[in-house]
Amino acid sequence: MLSRKKAFEKIAQTDIWDVVVIGGGATGMGIAVDAANRGFKVLLLEKNDFAKGTSSRSTKLVHGGVRYLAQGNLKLVIEALSERGFLLANAPHLTRLQAFIIPTYRYFDQLFYASGLLLYDALAGKLSLSRTKLLSKKSLVQLMPSIHGKGLKGGIVYADGQFDDARLVMSLALTANDLGGVVLNYANVTALKKNDGKVSGVAFIDEESNKTYEIASKSVINATGVFVDSILDMDDKSSPAAVMPSQGVHLVINREFFPSDHALMIPKTRDGRVLFAVPWKNAVVLGTTDTPLQEISEEPSALNEEIDFILEHFNQYNEKKITKDDIKSVFAGLRPLVKTSNNKSTALASRDHTIIVSSSNLITITGGKWTTYRKMAKDALNNAVFVAKLPIVKCATRSLRLHGYTENIQASSALSIYGSDAKEIQQMINEDVSMGERIHPDHAYTKAELIWSIRNEMALQVEDILARRSRILFVDAAAAIASVEKVASIMANELKKDNQWIQQQIALFTELAKGYLP
Ligand SMILES: Cc1cc2nc3c(=O)[nH]c(=O)nc-3n(C[C@H](O)[C@H](O)[C@H](O)COP(=O)(O)OP(=O)(O)OC[C@H]3O[C@@H](n4cnc5c(N)ncnc54)[C@H](O)[C@@H]3O)c2cc1C
Repeated sequence: MLSRKKAFEKIAQTDIWDVVVIGGGATGMGIAVDAANRGFKVLLLEKNDFAKGTSSRSTKLVHGGVRYLAQGNLKLVIEALSERGFLLANAPHLTRLQAFIIPTYRYFDQLFYASGLLLYDALAGKLSLSRTKLLSKKSLVQLMPSIHGKGLKGGIVYADGQFDDARLVMSLALTANDLGGVVLNYANVTALKKNDGKVSGVAFIDEESNKTYEIASKSVINATGVFVDSILDMDDKSSPAAVMPSQGVHLVINREFFPSDHALMIPKTRDGRVLFAVPWKNAVVLGTTDTPLQEISEEPSALNEEIDFILEHFNQYNEKKITKDDIKSVFAGLRPLVKTSNNKSTALASRDHTIIVSSSNLITITGGKWTTYRKMAKDALNNAVFVAKLPIVKCATRSLRLHGYTENIQASSALSIYGSDAKEIQQMINEDVSMGERIHPDHAYTKAELIWSIRNEMALQVEDILARRSRILFVDAAAAIASVEKVASIMANELKKDNQWIQQQIALFTELAKGYLP
């Protein structure tokens, strides 16, 4: 399991790494897993907590992207559909099949979308989930009772995947660690080391101790999402911008407003995109938007017009109308879209990934989707192997089971996301009933899970627990704020921190969480 102490011991013992990865989101973590699985000495450094960036702020769909099909990007759809199949098979504890419904109000639309979705199924080949069917109005209303009924003709049901993004990053971190790789959070890369103009390592600050470390490596991969330009800048001040950031916002509401196990897919928004309402945990996630941004931030915040846009579209399709007051949490994420000179709009910009090999041999990867993280990792690592002349070992992550893999998933159990680790958490509860206490009465997350994450998943701050190890902040911001004192005091006890630390954590988290209130 993860341990900062062991990570620093390995750092002290290792003269030179084969691969250093900067960035602990989906892309970086995927690379760390692949590198460790190929037998390379790999170190991953994440400035904040794992998955603090875009990778905890997605719509949480493992999908080929029906929208990209409409845009004619068959290559991306085929690749993503294959990756969807691999991910569903390799991480059954964190992914699940999700049925989606497109309601139609014109018979022509029903045929149009059905033919597109049949093609979508066919493109998945052997990995097809083959669930596309036409729905009559009557059966649609039975499956989705709150759907707007006036003029409804019927609809189409199809299947895709759904997952818990931040938990999947944790599972990847644990997988990399199981395979001998080292991952470290709160490790901020501040400089690239060079030898004869070629990148030979990095310097990083451990944000816990404030100490600076210098690391030698045969290759360095920049997987920092929307922040790739800051690392490219460290390499060469004249590097052109690689990323064009675009913000996407999600609103989270109670299930009572949308009482269906099926997700809603709104096929055409005012700006020509799609919008989803997806059941997730004990809530429903609505989103998303696509707003080009000039400034990037670690805590992006929703614009009022983005919130209004989502409310307006959802209310058009749902009988139970919602207002801002019904929102439990608002979260925003930044897409690291590949910058090209001919992009007219971020909504039309390609979701493909790109790899830049700088003359210094720095490898930068950006763009892509969560769903395709494994393929992105493979491509980035193949480039690193080539430039650093590492031994050629075939990528074998396609069928690599991720940490926690188990065939006996009890989806109804709140501990199922831990997969095979769930029994150890259950054991903690069996040995001490107080461990089964909920952190907040409305959410199933227990004290045992909190302590488990401190001991095994490098959770260091209150935010790590409330935002990413549990997802309380993302489903219910007010409940997260109400839990802050309890979480801070349990953490202080476990991490041997004093009262000043508790007060500081309460203030920091409360301030941050206010940004998730509508
Ligand atoms: C609104 C929205 C919805 C989305 N929905 C989906 C979806 O449903 N399905 C799907 O497949 N994809 C989806 N995506 C895309 C997907 O989420 C992203 O492609 C993916 O998460 C990007 O991961 P990443 O690792 O490249 O970036 P990030 O997750 O942002 O990770 C980069 C990391 O680098 C770290 N970092 C930065 N600078 C440094 C430094 N100097 N030193 C060390 N670390 C550093 C950051 O702290 C950050 O954690 C969505 C994206 C958005 C924005």
